Amino acid sequence: TDSDTADEAVRATCDDATTCKRFATSKGYWKDPYMQYFARSVGERKAPEINRGYYARVQGMNHLLDAFIRKTECDCQVINLGAGLDTTFWRLKEENLLPRKFFEIDFPTVVARKIHNIKKKPPLSKPIIETHSTDSLLLDAHSLDSDRYCIIGADLRDISTLDQKLKKFQLPTMLLSECVLVYMTPSHSSNIIHWAAESFHTAMFINYEQVNMSDRFGQVMIENLQRRQCNLAGVEACQSLESQKERFLKSGWEHADALDMMTVYSMLPQEDVARIERLEFLDEKELLHQLLQHYSICWATKDKLNLGISYITL
Ligand code: SAM
Repeated sequence: TDSDTADEAVRATCDDATTCKRFATSKGYWKDPYMQYFARSVGERKAPEINRGYYARVQGMNHLLDAFIRKTECDCQVINLGAGLDTTFWRLKEENLLPRKFFEIDFPTVVARKIHNIKKKPPLSKPIIETHSTDSLLLDAHSLDSDRYCIIGADLRDISTLDQKLKKFQLPTMLLSECVLVYMTPSHSSNIIHWAAESFHTAMFINYEQVNMSDRFGQVMIENLQRRQCNLAGVEACQSLESQKERFLKSGWEHADALDMMTVYSMLPQEDVARIERLEFLDEKELLHQLLQHYSICWATKDKLNLGISYITL
């Protein structure tokens, strides 16, 4: 059916993220020794502005996530919504920043692919086994359930099933959605945002996605995706930084901030930015600015335990 085709196109976006991250790490933008196990070949060349954009995205997300984990002294849980083939679990393990529990959710077919790779590749499976103390490790074709890392196949649009499958704790909770909500209708994404606010008393939600999409450049971005059958069903919520914050503030979150990625880029540690700018020559600075002005990081908090998480910033 049409909706199966649409879902398949959305699932395929996880390969875009993986191949772009793989290419950028192969050029040295940042280190990720685990990416290679999910994307075997480096793949075709990506333009320098794309690589810089992924650099800002990964550095920005990591900065906020790590700040939250440090603030809670790892006594927290992380729920990565639409995680795809993300490698954050392994990075956190390596950096001694592993939360009490790290959950990931994605469509069952994406999860099956991820688990297949984990099973086959000892550099991926070893860290999971190392962090598991009991003999109850479950690793079948469709799910992974270990002491510290849990991968769940579910459709994020079906909140009741999601809530059932997620054996969540009442711990300070970080929810991540990196290029995920934009593929759902605004009503589906606000259901998730609302459910998260209801479920956790002390929490932070970080959402990365497109913004400022009503101008000409935004229209071209939308058309390019549509050409690949991929529909940004949630683009209505991406009109402005204000609308990004607004949907959190009206769904039970106490505090929200949003920045476009050009601003994030200018706030990243300048020494490292100077390093990556030397990796590849970029002639058209204007192109980078335009591209980064069309993506944003929005983060929202609620802080019943008064941990000070609303002060976390870039
Ligand atoms: N967050 C990862 C990253 O940034 O590397 C993957 C991003 S990819 C662009 C979007 C991911 O969201 C895909 O893996 C897709 O399968 C997942 N996704 C989108 N809609 C979903 C839904 N309704 N239920 C579960 N997963 C979904």
